[in-house]
Amino acid sequence: MSAEPSLAATLAELGQPGYRHRQVTEAKRAGAEGFDEVSTLPATLRAQLSERLPFWSMTPEREAVSADGTRKWLLRAPDGVAVELVLIAHAAGRRTACLSSQAGCALACRFCATGAMGPGRDLSSDEIVDQALLATRAAAEAAARLTNVVFMGMGEPLQNLDAVLPAVRAIHAPEGLGLSARKIAVSTVGWVPGITRMSAEEVPARLAISLHAADDDTRSELMPINLRYPIANLLAECRRYCDTTGRRVFIEYLLLDRVNDAPADARRLATLLRDGRFHVNLIEYNPTAGPYRASPPERREAFQRALARSGIEASLRRSRGADVAAACGQLATGGSG
Ligand code: SF4
Repeated sequence: MSAEPSLAATLAELGQPGYRHRQVTEAKRAGAEGFDEVSTLPATLRAQLSERLPFWSMTPEREAVSADGTRKWLLRAPDGVAVELVLIAHAAGRRTACLSSQAGCALACRFCATGAMGPGRDLSSDEIVDQALLATRAAAEAAARLTNVVFMGMGEPLQNLDAVLPAVRAIHAPEGLGLSARKIAVSTVGWVPGITRMSAEEVPARLAISLHAADDDTRSELMPINLRYPIANLLAECRRYCDTTGRRVFIEYLLLDRVNDAPADARRLATLLRDGRFHVNLIEYNPTAGPYRASPPERREAFQRALARSGIEASLRRSRGADVAAACGQLATGGSG
């Protein structure tokens, strides 16, 4: 299975200038449903594009709406591949889109429903940008605004940087979605070669690391990638990234009851991160079919206190959309939809 030819490649093949791509993006954002509705394109080009590729690289097939306003869609590509897109609702009309980068995942993190699906194909840049455009339109329909984009949906984005980086640039570009680099986050479980590449290229996004444990034994049990890139190697690469880009790295830490949530874990975490170029986000766990449970509030608070006493301030990210399996770690196209 493979993605459709890209819009950029098709326009280049037709000898069209680069700004045609922008015109299509603008029309999609404004509500067009086909190339024939992109009035800024010449009529012949509209017909040529309609013959060669679908207007949307992925289309919504099913939707679920959470009690908290979070929405989740199953999107399908013409080759049958499916992924999930989540639009998280916040106060004051703000929305965050959680984008997928692969239709499955080979990295098999034990707490993750996508990992349980096994590997799937890489999404194309068009397929990723179309998720952001669909999210923008859905937000506008609800009189809200897409303010943030996170690559925390299905797949490991750093294993698909050839598509993710152009998508990030399109989402950031003023003629694309115009989101600032601070509002775009690329999240990895620790694919070190991808972090090296993110250091080398100017990427208008924040880097987030799903660390989830402060010792190698626990982390390797939760996330087999740790056997290949243990914590010390991963954090060393993160420090290089900070030095090269001048940016901080966001550390995501999923709190799992009696797995990684003891005060001693918090102290170990603080020791690992003590040079201050990291910001920690603690995340509530949402149950999947796996063996883990969320940390109860008293353990969560004790963990946060122990971190603070060790000099690390951490934010707590509340779960959104868990009732429709749209929350962190719950996305899977064979799931409850
Ligand atoms: S957490 Fe991310 S990297 Fe790990 S299995 Fe799930 S999708 Fe893959």
